Amino acid sequence: MHFAAFALVGESYSDPGKYFRNNTCGGLNLVEAMKEYGVKRIVFSSTCATYGQPDTMPITEDTLQKPTNPYGQSKLGFENVLKWYAEIYGFSPVILRYFNACGAEGDLGEDHAIETHLIPNVLKVALGQSDGVKIFGDDYNTEDGTCVRDYIHVSDLARAHLLAVESDFTGALNLGTGKGFSVKEIVESARKVTGHSIPSSICPRRPGDPDILVSDPSRAFASLGWKAEYTEPFEIIKSAWEWHRSHPSGYISV
Ligand code: UDP
Repeated sequence: MHFAAFALVGESYSDPGKYFRNNTCGGLNLVEAMKEYGVKRIVFSSTCATYGQPDTMPITEDTLQKPTNPYGQSKLGFENVLKWYAEIYGFSPVILRYFNACGAEGDLGEDHAIETHLIPNVLKVALGQSDGVKIFGDDYNTEDGTCVRDYIHVSDLARAHLLAVESDFTGALNLGTGKGFSVKEIVESARKVTGHSIPSSICPRRPGDPDILVSDPSRAFASLGWKAEYTEPFEIIKSAWEWHRSHPSGYISV
């Protein structure tokens, strides 16, 4: 199972080489080593960022992949490598296209040296570690003007990997809930979970953010019997909040 990648859309603009080197060339090095040692099965963590901004929602696995940022392009590059290694060398890859991974379970939560993700940033405000959350743009083509994403819990993602590695399935699968929530809706839900007012301000757009990304996860159900158990932001944010509260300085806390 290949989880190793850089995954920040903004950073992929400031340092695209870092993304292509690690996410695409690093993947190529891996499959070359697999070829040498006769390993043909691989489960690869890919991303909805490979789709870019499709014209129609929800996104199926057959939706045209046209990334809008270097991050998505670097992951699509490795997806394409896998497709050719399947055809030429008989590899059997499972490509899992995550939508917005989030949430926590037990001792495992989200802790980045520089946090850019929405839910941890919102919770940092509730923890008193930040004054307010910045909403990157409210002029998108969505109901409330803020970006809509499909938030999928890490435990649901983990379960999909176990099913995938034990299955005979080869090909790509979307991993999402099939439901979209706006940035404003996530902030509002975090207010309910934490009881904190979580002040917010509207800031300029972040480059490369598509308006809406929502999955059609039905192929994952048909192929692996997988579907998300966490489907509401309240429950997902609650799990993240429990972790952040018990780990206020991230993993250093323990
Ligand atoms: N976002 C935001 N403020 C933040 C972090 C993120 O408004 O502090 C927005 C971001 O522009 C995107 C959505 O929240 O529309 C989800 O961003 P995140 O970085 O969590 O995941 P991504 O969609 O980039 O994988």
